[in-house]
Amino acid sequence: MNADSDEVTDRSIDATEPLLRLRGMSAGYGGVAVVHDLDLHVGAGEVVALLGANGAGKTTTLLTVSGLLQRLAGELTVLGVEPPMGGRFAREKVALALVRKGLAYVPEDRALFFGLSGREHLRLAARRGDGEAIELALEPFPALAAIIDRRAGLLSGGEQQMLAIARALATRPRLLLIDEMTLGLAPIIVEQLLPRVAATARSTGVGMLLVEQHVKAVLTVADRAYVMVQGRIATSGQASEMNADSQELAARYLGAIPDRHQAGPSVNLSESSSPEGTTPAERREDGGDASG
Ligand code: ATP
Repeated sequence: MNADSDEVTDRSIDATEPLLRLRGMSAGYGGVAVVHDLDLHVGAGEVVALLGANGAGKTTTLLTVSGLLQRLAGELTVLGVEPPMGGRFAREKVALALVRKGLAYVPEDRALFFGLSGREHLRLAARRGDGEAIELALEPFPALAAIIDRRAGLLSGGEQQMLAIARALATRPRLLLIDEMTLGLAPIIVEQLLPRVAATARSTGVGMLLVEQHVKAVLTVADRAYVMVQGRIATSGQASEMNADSQELAARYLGAIPDRHQAGPSVNLSESSSPEGTTPAERREDGGDASG
């Protein structure tokens, strides 16, 4: 292990190895761990859900996997890359190495450029001359393809989320991390989006780690799931089994921490019932077609 070095260890992984593996990993901010002793893996074509109440450590885990936060202890291997830990940690170097290996990360705020069209987003993401990647990225989202020349700021929340995911797919990733894909989306959009994204993983072999508050909806499409409580993995297992017992799962692991963003329960147990148009990313740049 390459502790206290800024060297990024990079090797090829074979087909039998997981794309992502955490072993006893801790990570956090300013040298203080907020996630502890995490064991987790994602294989090719696998859809893995990362669940937990607000503040449980899900985003911290994704940020660490994507090289944007420091691993403080334990092992982390992402597509054969082992990000270093220690004082001379070079975030940009690590993040770039991971992107080159095929990691794509869709952050919670979607990080779109509201003045650019959908097509411009995809062109910027795809390798130069790789028009086929743009076509493939749009395949799961025919509704988006129809309005791909519209500026991102004029798209509805669901359309923006489709664009954020399509942009990630246009990079031809091997491992895709998506944070709160359905946050603030209408039930109908949630019902459409999660199965399409999961189907894309299975048809392309992309491994996916999905942070999601819609517990039942994501357990319906995922292969496996991990549940975090206060920075630790409290339980994990087959998604179908966890889904069959989702009331018990919620009562034991998901409702204990008060929601720090809003009043009410911190996870959503219905198939899909969040209101549309509630996130900052959905604010329109100016008035336009908001149909979703
Ligand atoms: P949510 O569902 O609300 O997004 P989460 O499960 O993604 O929550 P994290 O955002 O990873 O949780 O937060 C885990 C812990 O780390 C929380 O206690 C949070 O307050 C803390 N934390 C998050 N960001 C920072 C930061 N920049 N500096 C210090 N502590 C932070």
